[in-house]
Amino acid sequence: MDFPYGKFMLQTIDRCAAPLAQACSSTPSSDRNTMSVNDLLQRNREWAEAQLKVDPEYFSRHVEGQKPRLLWIGCSDSRVAAEQLLNCGPGEVFIHRNVANVVAYNDINIAAVIQYAVEVLKVPDIVICGHYECGGVKAACAKEVTTGYIGDWLMITGWAKRWVDDRLGWRKDRMPKDEYYRHVVEENVLLQVKHLSHLSMIREAWKRDPSSPRLHGWVYDISTGLIKVVMDGMEFENEVKEEESKH
Ligand SMILES: [Zn+2]
Repeated sequence: MDFPYGKFMLQTIDRCAAPLAQACSSTPSSDRNTMSVNDLLQRNREWAEAQLKVDPEYFSRHVEGQKPRLLWIGCSDSRVAAEQLLNCGPGEVFIHRNVANVVAYNDINIAAVIQYAVEVLKVPDIVICGHYECGGVKAACAKEVTTGYIGDWLMITGWAKRWVDDRLGWRKDRMPKDEYYRHVVEENVLLQVKHLSHLSMIREAWKRDPSSPRLHGWVYDISTGLIKVVMDGMEFENEVKEEESKH
């Protein structure tokens, strides 16, 4: 399979990396606790000015429309900023984020995002991207169930924990906690890719064109900045075909 990320990344780095890097490195992390809303608005003005200096057509180009390369379904965690970690700029990634990157069957919000991405924007790839050190996953693994909306939401991620527990068996108790969480983070991504594949919008799209959209499962490592691929499109298509052949 032609795995297009390398080509894609190189193209976007040329166009977008420099302005983004400049804008993001301008504020030391120590300022973040004391940064006011007005400070952020000032940063916005400085950022817009910096973009125009590098590329005078930067904003006017975006008015014409968007043709994002992929749909990103990620965690709301502030450390996992999709465009930055892919070195992309505006117009290149269509994004949905929620706690623990969950695809819930009854979530009209994510359903609308996916429908627009698939039927209107016609994105060829959909990525579910989890991340290590995910607070949502840790909460889903906690002995004491989190209350309120977060607890209800994380019931879905709880299934990933159960599957990991079944797979690891006695080894779970001898495993460092961090390593255990990494297993659950990866399993949660696989689970959400599976949920995605069950949605009628995706199944209908595959009837029209079996090769699109391709579904992918990634995990972002916040300690290194690198993405681990836990499931690529080809792998998943094969699995679906195998499942279908059993029926
Ligand atoms: Zn998270």
